[in-house]
Amino acid sequence: MTENTSTQQFEYKAEMQQLLHLIVNSLYTNQEIFLRELISNASDALNKARFRQLTDHSEGNHKDLQITITLDKETKTLSIEDTGIGMTHEDLIERLGTIASSGTLAFIEEQKASGKPVDAGLIGQFGVGFYSAFMVADEIVLETLYADEGAEPFNWTSDGTGTYAISPGTREDHGTKITLHLKEEAKEFAEETRVRSIIRKYSNFVDFPIQLGSDQVNTLKALWKKRKEDITEDERNEFYKFVTGDFAEPFGHLHLQIEGLLSFEALLFVPAQAPVSFFREDRRSDLHLYCSGVFVRDDAEELLPDYLHFVRGVVDTDDLPLNVSREVTQNSPVAQRIRSTLTGKLLGLLKEWATDDGERYEKFFLNFGPVLKTGLWSDMSRHDELLELMRYPSTNSENLTSLHDYVERMTGDQETIYYLLADSLESARKSPHLEVFARKGIEVLLLPDPIDALTLPNVQKFEEKSFASVTAAELDLGEDEESEPLPGDDRDALLSLFRLQLGDRIQDVVASKRLVDSAATLVAAKDGLDPQLERMMKSMNPDYEGMKKVLEINVEHPLMQNILALKSSENQDTLIEEAIEQVYEGALLLDGNLAEPSAFVERMTRILVDATRTQ
Ligand code: ADP
Repeated sequence: MTENTSTQQFEYKAEMQQLLHLIVNSLYTNQEIFLRELISNASDALNKARFRQLTDHSEGNHKDLQITITLDKETKTLSIEDTGIGMTHEDLIERLGTIASSGTLAFIEEQKASGKPVDAGLIGQFGVGFYSAFMVADEIVLETLYADEGAEPFNWTSDGTGTYAISPGTREDHGTKITLHLKEEAKEFAEETRVRSIIRKYSNFVDFPIQLGSDQVNTLKALWKKRKEDITEDERNEFYKFVTGDFAEPFGHLHLQIEGLLSFEALLFVPAQAPVSFFREDRRSDLHLYCSGVFVRDDAEELLPDYLHFVRGVVDTDDLPLNVSREVTQNSPVAQRIRSTLTGKLLGLLKEWATDDGERYEKFFLNFGPVLKTGLWSDMSRHDELLELMRYPSTNSENLTSLHDYVERMTGDQETIYYLLADSLESARKSPHLEVFARKGIEVLLLPDPIDALTLPNVQKFEEKSFASVTAAELDLGEDEESEPLPGDDRDALLSLFRLQLGDRIQDVVASKRLVDSAATLVAAKDGLDPQLERMMKSMNPDYEGMKKVLEINVEHPLMQNILALKSSENQDTLIEEAIEQVYEGALLLDGNLAEPSAFVERMTRILVDATRTQ
């Protein structure tokens, strides 16, 4: 192919065309962020060039690493030039022309469908920042030369509709110059005061000089190296927004300047909200690693445990060499010590929030508690510390409670922390398992988060108290003086009726000590899994059969008494059978485990037909 001598036309892939259409036609708020995106790309490219210069000593030609912005009001153009790494022909097609993150389109369409104005600021979160320039430009010309000896320069142009063109270029120094031909309605972006204020707002902390006219616009001082007392809150918040692309103020921060055996600085933030992409596979971590002040990577997640991945910011150390790979960093004792120090300090910070202002901490926990909880199974060394930081809904209050407060509220001889695993908070609050606890005034933790099912049942003790699920078959809350149980024979007769009818569908039928208003409930057999856990396993593996359950029946319930009475009348066997089936399937239904509801409904209809027949 003769790619170096002639212009080649390329068509955008279908998904990119749709995306461009959305960008041009839906993103009206916050258009100015296109400049942040382009400067951030330039800064990435400069970081790569600097990194090469520092690690690859054969390179001779060291240009000044900087960004230059040129404006022309007459021709309505804005150009941004960097002396960074540049792009190859392949980069222009594969990197520039491709949507890196698959959910982008769907997300923007969803936002649009919900009738909200779509904020352009979101675009940067999805790795398509470059294309945000088409919000303000109807033509973009990009001239680039890759920083390899012998690399060829290329020009790339597009009007942001169906196609782009690549042709041989003339650029002589490595780097990239991007020229935007501004739309009439966006000509304000060719004005110096406007552009200067945008740079101050979004890009003040870029590590390379940004030249506009004859001035350098940004301040070039690593904020984390400044003394804490010399940093204003505004400055810090601005820095947070710069690092993360978030528009909101951070929820809180931690500034560390550690010296001694290990020396590093860290300026870390907890966001106020999880970013849109937080729960997606391809989320960005936004933990920037610098070595001796030089940017190395923006995804240094190995410096924090998984359960603190919502923390974002900057870590700068003199103790790691610049050109280490992620694998090496991960296993290096230095990185492990940094990680351990950061973890300890961050958990300390959370504890401080929890102690100083419970309400505020609850806000944090509602956002990131589910992530923090995963530490209960992944980090045994911090297990107790993490348990103290947990908050759960409970039958006792509308707010979340700590385990410590639960234990404080325990009365009498209660030795156990009771919990109920459930699908949702609503179904938890309605569970028949809570009846006897309510009557006895015992508080129960309600756990609707799937992660709870995987963590709390494995916790041995907290403040000397053990844990028990209220659905456990072996639960014994002591004898209840108020109740007058059925005479033993009747009770046995009732149990055998149920056993006979349900056969080996269940492990056993027993008289319940926990039901008050409900007629029956299913509980896990001794040593069996909690029903909620079983349900989760089933959802992961449809073939999973689960273990047989124990059916607990409330022998004092009028329904049970009636069934017994029917037993002594003639010709009522069918009705007894149907009643028992209905009780059993009703219990399955409440647990969310009734796979085939049609028989249940048919039976119910038959019974209703009988009951509603006028005598
Ligand atoms: P992102 O920066 O999030 O990856 P963009 O759409 O902004 O998404 O850019 C896509 C890719 O194009 C970048 O990852 C980078 O490889 C390349 N690129 C963009 N701008 C530049 C530039 N100024 N210099 C070198 N490469 C660039």
